[in-house]
Amino acid sequence: MNIEQTVSTAVQELALGSAFSFDELVSALQERRNRTLRIIELVDLGDHDGICAVWLITDSEDLVLHAHSDSVLHRQQFVLHEFAHMILGHGDDDDYFVDDFLLPDIPPHTRRRLLARQDLDSESEVAAESLADRLAAAIRGSAFTKSRYLEIFG
Ligand SMILES: [Zn+2]
Repeated sequence: MNIEQTVSTAVQELALGSAFSFDELVSALQERRNRTLRIIELVDLGDHDGICAVWLITDSEDLVLHAHSDSVLHRQQFVLHEFAHMILGHGDDDDYFVDDFLLPDIPPHTRRRLLARQDLDSESEVAAESLADRLAAAIRGSAFTKSRYLEIFG
């Protein structure tokens, strides 16, 4: 399957339609993974560190830690990229175990994946970025639908 197909299939499997809100996506992911999903901003982590977001799998939760960015859209993109890895099942590969240099306060067994978005050379990174773009478009579509609704009926 090529990346385009992989991404389209993943979007279809979400069964959220072509436009959905960020919150609807989070709910769908929690339900699908049967775990709590928490999104946390790491104030100390900046874009310049080359790492924009990290997905950690603990016994009961998925944690997405992301760098601060003044742009809401950037932040959303960091987080959606990690969601994309979740949706594509990338966290199930054990070769993603990572070092702990960034996260001294988090116990080792909770560390699972650490992702540098700049590292887009592998196929899974390209797929994740592509899926993140599709999710962002769907979320924009949802915002547009709602604002149109308000324009007409609000
Ligand atoms: Zn990635």
